[in-house]
Amino acid sequence: MSLAENLTQVQRTLTASDRTTLLAVSKRVPASVLREAHALGLRHFGENYVQEALEKQATLQDLQPVCWHFIGRIQRNKTSEIAQHFDWVESVDRPLLAQRLNAARQGAATKLNVLVEVAVSGEDSKGGCLPAALEALANEIEKLPHLRMRGLMALVHPDPDQARNNFSQMQALFHALQNTGKYPDLDTLSMGTSADYIQALAHGATEVRLGTVLFGSRHQERL
Ligand SMILES: *Cc1c(COP(=O)(O)O)cnc(C)c1O
Repeated sequence: MSLAENLTQVQRTLTASDRTTLLAVSKRVPASVLREAHALGLRHFGENYVQEALEKQATLQDLQPVCWHFIGRIQRNKTSEIAQHFDWVESVDRPLLAQRLNAARQGAATKLNVLVEVAVSGEDSKGGCLPAALEALANEIEKLPHLRMRGLMALVHPDPDQARNNFSQMQALFHALQNTGKYPDLDTLSMGTSADYIQALAHGATEVRLGTVLFGSRHQERL
């Protein structure tokens, strides 16, 4: 199926919750296809690899409006490039990364939107801060002048029953943070990928991150 057909399918499932942000996960997707996606109305793109993202951003400089989200593992030596070339960072999981992103964002016209990635799947291979450390990290981000604490992100367990538990835990953590009243800009719960986004929406996701259902399988090809 074509990108346009895939997008129509996905949008049909999103209309029920009309404020959901559709983040098109474009890792390993060439710039020409992102241009096509933009022409079809997609505005939010999620990238995992800094070098790959910067190359595509340079090719797509003329696209407006567009919003770039960094969703991959953050390497410490890449924090300046991330802070300077993205609008959102969804994978902050340590105070040190928040501090480095904040320092590198100084002088920019807008604050950097930040989501805390939370480790709820119990799989060590995935990043994320432990739920017990979440509030301390959120407080740290809230204090930093060039960051805007917008919400939480998670990748859940592949098993559907465990995924359901992970989603409800995320929903509870998000509401608990909102209920503290300490984070005025907290409005984003980013969860759900191609495999599980319908379930994520049922648990209050405000943003879903979709690659495969839009662009097809990535196989292992590199650009
Ligand atoms: C790759 C990726 C996705 C998208 O996964 P699909 O299964 O292709 O939809 C979402 N979130 C993160 C953090 C990713 O790395």
